[in-house]
Amino acid sequence: MTVASADGGREQDDDFVMINESAAHASSAMAQDHTLDLISDYVDGVSNELGAISLEIHDRPELQYKECHAHDVLTKFMASQKGWTITRSASNIDTAFVAVYDSGIKGPVVSLNAEYDALKGIGHACGHNLIAVASVAGALAIAHLMEQNQLAGRVVLFGTPAEEGGGGKIKLFDAGAYRDQEVDISLISHPGISSDAVLVRTAAYTAFKVEYFGKEAHAAARPWDGINALDALITAYSAISVLRQQTEPGDIIQGMITNGGLRPNIIHAYSAGRFVVRSSTRARREALLKRVEACFEAGALATGAKLKLTLGGSYDDHMPNKALGGSYRHCFNRLGGDIPIGSIDMLQSATMASTDQGNISYAMPSISPNFWIRSEDERGAQLGGPHTPDFERAARTEEAQQKAMRVGKALAATALDVLTRPELLHEVKREFEEMRHADKEARVKRGVQ
Ligand SMILES: [Zn+2]
Ligand SMILES: [Zn+2]
Repeated sequence: MTVASADGGREQDDDFVMINESAAHASSAMAQDHTLDLISDYVDGVSNELGAISLEIHDRPELQYKECHAHDVLTKFMASQKGWTITRSASNIDTAFVAVYDSGIKGPVVSLNAEYDALKGIGHACGHNLIAVASVAGALAIAHLMEQNQLAGRVVLFGTPAEEGGGGKIKLFDAGAYRDQEVDISLISHPGISSDAVLVRTAAYTAFKVEYFGKEAHAAARPWDGINALDALITAYSAISVLRQQTEPGDIIQGMITNGGLRPNIIHAYSAGRFVVRSSTRARREALLKRVEACFEAGALATGAKLKLTLGGSYDDHMPNKALGGSYRHCFNRLGGDIPIGSIDMLQSATMASTDQGNISYAMPSISPNFWIRSEDERGAQLGGPHTPDFERAARTEEAQQKAMRVGKALAATALDVLTRPELLHEVKREFEEMRHADKEARVKRGVQ
């Protein structure tokens, strides 16, 4: 989508104003269109092979950190490509890998993440097979154009396992995999049933386990001798229910009791539950977590039971880089897409789902565009989205494969834009530092630094 500019009535993309600003920029836009044609031709040439890889992964779904088949298929394929160096089981993670194409000339380092884990019981119902091949297509196209045009820099494809709760990207990041490659930007994508979008923001979440330890007593004869661990949990649960009225839009607290005692005639010595706290930013999530912890402490204080909190998985929200997003939108729309201008895209594409790409987005500039795939019945009625059996079927169609290839092309074009236009990389990094600063300020303001 484009908007009419105020001055001349010409149409222009708000985040890509430079293409209409001068003759010099117009010629750079033409050069970019030519690049897009070359990328497109290249990806069309490998699409069938990548389609077969996507089905290979899809039809043998593997859960987090057990994606041996996917790891094998992808690393074998990458090793067969000219100029690529592959590290299997990277950072001592069995099913992670790092594939590098180095131009030999020092320059920016662009990276893509490939996911390939499935969901328990419903296979590739999150469509990570499509994410994998979109990123592979993008990485190969970048390398191809780097070679053809002797461009400086490096492209890195990270095989990132266990997105569904295992935090594979966080493990790779903590092990120094991104730092070792001196990565400047990170690109990935995700299929869904909502419209194509680039400035996708996800929610920050933290899961944790709660346990209370009390003391048994006969519940009728001598209840005063006991310490009721279930009462502690119920008190906390009620306090959280009250807290929910005072939270900001975008704050979500969910919970369940997994252990509520042994028998009604015993004062419960042990209780346990699982809880998840979500918010739209990590600073807000941490502030909310403090308030939720206070509710659990209230349960302990009221009953005398001892509280134990064990933190589980935790993903930061995804902060999309608008400068990278502008480049992607421009390229994606030239390929027939229809992503709206930045401000509308940003508003429409906030989701309460979470991804470990969020943590990456706080470490380096990142985008994680959403791409629509068809999940409909024969009459065109909408069927289920990610994490439903309908979506598992939607993720293996030829049409979905073509959508993934278009995303791969746009990711490649965005990366090439970064590799060839230092002013873009400069702006991408400036915006990233500004975002980091705003995050720091928000943490100070909320007392969670
Ligand atoms: Zn998922
Ligand atoms: Zn997913």
